[in-house]
Amino acid sequence: MTHRLAHALAVLYALTALGLFRCAVTSWQNGSWPFALFFTGASVLLITATVHHSWQRDELRYAHARLEHAARPPELHPAVADEIALGWQALDETCCLRWWESKEKEHEPGCERHRSTA
Ligand SMILES: [Zn+2]
Repeated sequence: MTHRLAHALAVLYALTALGLFRCAVTSWQNGSWPFALFFTGASVLLITATVHHSWQRDELRYAHARLEHAARPPELHPAVADEIALGWQALDETCCLRWWESKEKEHEPGCERHRSTA
């Protein structure tokens, strides 16, 4: 439900509660106590529902904000970020697995760096 639609519904609930209260007053003026009580109760019930609806909307917003916050990737400490950057740089300089495993002494047969230095 969009924010605008929820707001429009709350306004409609409040207007309906006001209309029910008007019916209660008219019933009371015409001496119909049972209907006056019924319309008053219905009006109070609708106002309570409107307040509850507003409370639920706030709870939903809060839960949505918490989910968004939890879905964000964690911020890295600068030292950790530097270490990761150094790791990626070392990987970028690696030409082949054998070069990495032999600690920069040997290359695989098809390695481009091996061809250029040979
Ligand atoms: Zn190599």
